[in-house]
Amino acid sequence: MSKDTLGLGRGSRRHFLREGMMLTALGACERFRAEAPGGAPIAKIGLVTDLHYADKAPAGTRYYRQSVGKLREAGLMFERAKVSRVVELGDFVDAADSVSEELRYLERIQSEFSRLPGKKHYVLGNHCVDTLTKAEFLSGVGMEDSFLSFDESGFHFVILDACFRNDGEPYGRRNFQWTDPNIPPSQVEWLEADLRSTSKPTIVFVHQRLDVGEPYGVKNAKAINRLLQASGQVIAVFQGHSHENDYRCLQGIHYVTLVAMVEGQGPARNGYAVMNLYEGGRIAITGGGEQKNYSWA
Ligand SMILES: [Zn+2]
Repeated sequence: MSKDTLGLGRGSRRHFLREGMMLTALGACERFRAEAPGGAPIAKIGLVTDLHYADKAPAGTRYYRQSVGKLREAGLMFERAKVSRVVELGDFVDAADSVSEELRYLERIQSEFSRLPGKKHYVLGNHCVDTLTKAEFLSGVGMEDSFLSFDESGFHFVILDACFRNDGEPYGRRNFQWTDPNIPPSQVEWLEADLRSTSKPTIVFVHQRLDVGEPYGVKNAKAINRLLQASGQVIAVFQGHSHENDYRCLQGIHYVTLVAMVEGQGPARNGYAVMNLYEGGRIAITGGGEQKNYSWA
């Protein structure tokens, strides 16, 4: 057998296996797509991620100052939709040269964010605690805990904090590598108990991703996903961090990565979404700017 034949054979088999795996993964979520959402939503929640607000010049594709205007535009959609809550999925601010300057960035974007309708929720991103400590960020946005859960209109929501190093140390003040996000054992225990305590359809928010490996994935994502799957309650996970639209279905759970608000110049390069929740755990995502739409029955 020539090397070429061998190479082609291997390639085809790999291709076949990959297709097979994709079909299995799709099959698990297909049943949720059998019926499109109908009727009026029973709850609406605004979503934004990766604002990276900073009063500094653009770098590459990141236009830090423009996140203020983009957030106001998102706010118009949230007001029209009458959302009851807004969740920002992390990287709310970007690095400053000093703690005092970064606190000013946080104050600025927090004053804009707090004008949006409904209750506000914050997911910690690596950039939130790059210059600041967790305590400084949390107090800047009026939050007590970095991970928590709440109920709304028959749904259960969980906010996770993956800003911990592999040795369990919380991220803060440049003490970490951004490629080392972990959910430490104490939070895993809390999550297990929290999921056991609910019988409602559950939605999870987390900054770093649970559906991919390095460098964007949470290091112990497999263990977390096993818990989410075992609960039988989790229908979707919303993430940020890698800045691009992405979607995966793992074991019947939808994993959505929302597009970053900071990426690109001008209003057309915005990204935000309204999550519409329907009776029976159905979800539809209406995107603004470059955010993709989704609809799962
Ligand atoms: Zn980011």
